[in-house]
Amino acid sequence: MMTRNPQTGSEFSLAVLLDDICDHVRPAFGRGKVADYIPELARVNPRKFGMAVATVDSEIIGAGDCDEPFSLQSITKLFALILVLNRGGDEIWTRVGKEPSGTAFNHLALLEAERGAPRNPFVNAGALAVTDYLMARTKDVAGLMAGFIRVAGGVDSGGVNEVVAASEIATAFQNRAIANILKAHDTIDHAPDAVVDAYCRQCALEFSVRDLARAALPLALQGFSPLAGETMMAPRLVRRVNAVLMTSGMYESTGSFAYRVGLPAKSGVGGGIVAVAPGRGVVAVWSPELDRVGNSLVGTIALELFAQNSGWSIL
Ligand code: GLN
Repeated sequence: MMTRNPQTGSEFSLAVLLDDICDHVRPAFGRGKVADYIPELARVNPRKFGMAVATVDSEIIGAGDCDEPFSLQSITKLFALILVLNRGGDEIWTRVGKEPSGTAFNHLALLEAERGAPRNPFVNAGALAVTDYLMARTKDVAGLMAGFIRVAGGVDSGGVNEVVAASEIATAFQNRAIANILKAHDTIDHAPDAVVDAYCRQCALEFSVRDLARAALPLALQGFSPLAGETMMAPRLVRRVNAVLMTSGMYESTGSFAYRVGLPAKSGVGGGIVAVAPGRGVVAVWSPELDRVGNSLVGTIALELFAQNSGWSIL
């Protein structure tokens, strides 16, 4: 099936484009470094590469290791934000801001300087506050999130990798410090250790890029999932989530990512990135070697090539 490039008007095949990208990115292997501060993540094969596109017409195209589950890590912050907005509406913004932080995702000093008020829901401080909010509504935040991904994407695989969860829980010293600062300022209700444990379990969710592209499709389609045949979130919430993705989704590289790719996106230290092209579809990519700030190095190159050649950019 052919797709039209909205910027040039020419027709192209998404399947051919993804296969071309798989070939083009290979020389970039070896330039990044797999996350090893969570010991279990260091065991992944660094040269994996998978990419998938889900279009608003329910066309699903994959290439490379597109069916292999990987650790979603911070990409779960995107689904956590959707769940919290769906459940509590704008209430979460009384605890968490919407501004870019310009600091590392696990930065501590900024949180202390700003009296326990996280800059946005995509830095760890904000994500811990979102998880805390969800804990008042469910005993199993990771399960709630997996349920959303399965329904929205029409997928029946995936789930928590308990070994990765245990590995992060055992080494989450920085996140425990963040959670304690949050508690000291009453930003979270539950005990800091309980919030960190729930957050680490959520981060250890594993799905493939194909599942991920499918599950995020409502963000490209005003909240509707054509794969589930139901509305997963209100259109006004979709706009808000995409706005925060565009301004804070890629850590301290959010500006240069917008410059290179031009799509709202969220990354995780497992090497995944999911990018939303409103009205067109979702692109997900996975390659474990990370750049200096913790974004997939090869994945970013792949998305840059995709945006250039598909014309899928909001800029
Ligand atoms: N679980 C990881 C952490 O909190 C997620 C970080 C990330 O993907 N940026 O450190």
